[in-house]
Amino acid sequence: MPNALITGITGQDGAYLTQLLLKKNYRVIGTVRSASDHEHNTLTALKLQDQVQLIEADFMDMRSLARAVELAAPDEIYHLAAQTSVAASWERPVETGEITALGTARLVQVWREVKPGARFFQAASSEMYGKVAESPQTEATPFHPQSPYGAAKLYAYWIIVGCREIHAAHASCGILFNHESPLRPSNFVTRKVTQAVARIKQGLQNELIMGNLDVQRDWGFAGDYVRAMWHIMQQGEPDDYVIATGKVHSLREFVDLAFKCVGLNYQDYVRTDPAFFRPADPVALVGNPSKLASRTGWEPRVNLEQIVALMVEADIKRVLKQEELIDYTVED
Ligand code: NDP
Repeated sequence: MPNALITGITGQDGAYLTQLLLKKNYRVIGTVRSASDHEHNTLTALKLQDQVQLIEADFMDMRSLARAVELAAPDEIYHLAAQTSVAASWERPVETGEITALGTARLVQVWREVKPGARFFQAASSEMYGKVAESPQTEATPFHPQSPYGAAKLYAYWIIVGCREIHAAHASCGILFNHESPLRPSNFVTRKVTQAVARIKQGLQNELIMGNLDVQRDWGFAGDYVRAMWHIMQQGEPDDYVIATGKVHSLREFVDLAFKCVGLNYQDYVRTDPAFFRPADPVALVGNPSKLASRTGWEPRVNLEQIVALMVEADIKRVLKQEELIDYTVED
């Protein structure tokens, strides 16, 4: 039975990855921070809390990370923990650097000292492209991050590349494009939309105020993307891979689909406020997943319409306080 250590196990991807690895008969160990609010934990949502071992670790404290790696004795390390919000990274750039960038450096040092034979997956981000030079983006597209989050992810990315190229470690990066699910935290725009749709449908809210609806994104499903992470780890040779659907949609399409799920027209409820505006990217942020597809056979199985429907359905049940009826499970 292989051992997997997942940092950020309480996040959206951590929970879906745990579910996938347990099905594949891994022993799953995850790091959690002591300050975390585990009451509405994603692991509980997927009913996995009794099947994993959780170890407290602080990404500012190397000793706690060393203890976690020693206890887990991992064959595979999936490094997902990060300060993950672009907006928050502008409010708290130093914390973002400490956790998302230097936190990775600390984990890498511990990994190389304690269990250098373990394989390592780094959750890199399409935000590293920032001001995008070409579309769609591939593994060869130049990076130009435009936020403290993107810059922190890029710092972490180059450390992992260095581990692979200089130290011959099995270290890979997945350059993840946006991916969603009913477990997406509510500070992200997609959950803001689906939560509002559920509340409007139940008469608890009258309108939804949005920024620029013409922003374009490549949105995938979290369950599909954690499957890609696992495939990357099983490759004989480590490498970097874009994890994306290759399809671009506007935020307006997302909003329209969400309101349609409950039989409403978004134009009757959505108001745009220039205060929330960020300019539409001149070049679309959309990934080309061909390298991943050709090397591993991976392809996304859940399309945007299905993702939106799952999220709206789950948020309606949350509003009705029927959380126990939400089916978060994704089939492998
Ligand atoms: P989430 O925001 O859902 O989860 C983030 C995880 O990191 C949580 O377990 C959280 O713990 C943990 N974390 C946050 N801050 C700290 C901290 N200071 N110390 C220790 N742990 C912390 O992210 P996702 O699951 O969606 O993303 C997984 C990874 O993929 C992340 O690295 C993210 O940056 C990256 N990524 C995600 C994309 C997406 O669209 N989802 C796109 C591109 C990259 P807690 O539960 O305690 O808050």
